[in-house]
Amino acid sequence: MSQGDEYRRLSFWHDSVPGQLAPADRLDGDTEADVAIVGAGLTGMWTAYYLSKADPALRIVLCEREIAGFGASGRNGGWCSALFPASLAKLERMAGRESAIAMYREMQHTVDEVGKAAADEGIDCHWAKGGTVQFARSPTQLERAREEINEARLYGFDESDLRLLSAEEAQEFGGVSDVLGGVFTPHCAAIHPSRLARGLAEVLRSAGVRIYEKTEVRRLEPGRLVTAGEQRPQAGEQGNGSEVVHGDERRSGDGRQPGHPGPGDQPVDGAARQVSHGGDGVVAAARETEVGDDVRVVPVNADHPLAGPLQAGSRGRAHT
Ligand SMILES: Cc1cc2nc3c(=O)[nH]c(=O)nc-3n(C[C@H](O)[C@H](O)[C@H](O)COP(=O)(O)OP(=O)(O)OC[C@H]3O[C@@H](n4cnc5c(N)ncnc54)[C@H](O)[C@@H]3O)c2cc1C
Repeated sequence: MSQGDEYRRLSFWHDSVPGQLAPADRLDGDTEADVAIVGAGLTGMWTAYYLSKADPALRIVLCEREIAGFGASGRNGGWCSALFPASLAKLERMAGRESAIAMYREMQHTVDEVGKAAADEGIDCHWAKGGTVQFARSPTQLERAREEINEARLYGFDESDLRLLSAEEAQEFGGVSDVLGGVFTPHCAAIHPSRLARGLAEVLRSAGVRIYEKTEVRRLEPGRLVTAGEQRPQAGEQGNGSEVVHGDERRSGDGRQPGHPGPGDQPVDGAARQVSHGGDGVVAAARETEVGDDVRVVPVNADHPLAGPLQAGSRGRAHT
């Protein structure tokens, strides 16, 4: 089986994405960049996208261990949502009321921004903004739904942001049985995650951003990324990696910071490859969305070509 086919078998999303999934160029020698990014997931690629928009002359390099969109970015639940797993009250305690509100507003804005960027760039990621319903099927869930609405109102979020549904209204969404009510928010779109991630990678390449696939970063140093080279060395073997020289780096994907090694950070013996950059590029650490079975969440999406009228999933409560 070809490597591309192996990636296809990973998920429905990869299996249904157009184009090739065979790994593209890998880094096979030292190079230089203004900004070097570890990981071609959405964190790394959106960062590269907006940096490149802000300054098309920037030399941007992404080093990806597998292929662009390999991780959660290319095969997640397919919700582009403003649902944030931290309550407004918690954010206020952490950063103040205005910052909490600004964070939520920015999340909402980002849903539209993803749709706009995809449309502008011709990425057919099946973006369809139909909103989200959380069904309440027990008195406890209904109480939580009311609490969520009440909290939102305290911070200035009105009916246009989220509203309580009666049992009848909630039932109308997909003919759900035994439902007591629900919460509806319009701030959610359904997407095909692999189409978005793979499309974004293509757009970046056309803009001159270099994405090296099958290029695992083994070490982060000030101004330098060191990759593993063509083969992952086994214990006792020497690696033949490359270097990218750069000025500042943050790891995307798992949130680890430079100097805090994880399983993939072990230095490789022998000649290593590096990516170097001379700028101040910063890739924000990733934050995984919570998935749980406490509250049912259904993005309403009548136009989604894959999921049909409703796309169902579940999700944990926000941290309060
Ligand atoms: C099951 C699940 C469902 C989810 N559903 C949703 C959803 O519906 N909506 C939503 O918004 N979010 C969802 N999320 C969360 C969302 O997918 C992630 O927060 C997001 O994809 C993280 O993007 P990222 O680029 O930071 O990480 P990733 O997508 O994981 O990308 C990191 C990349 O870095 C690469 N990499 C790792 N280590 C190295 C290394 N040493 N060298 C080179 N490359 C490396 C990986 O191969 C990977 O491609 C879900 C997450 C999971 C797990």
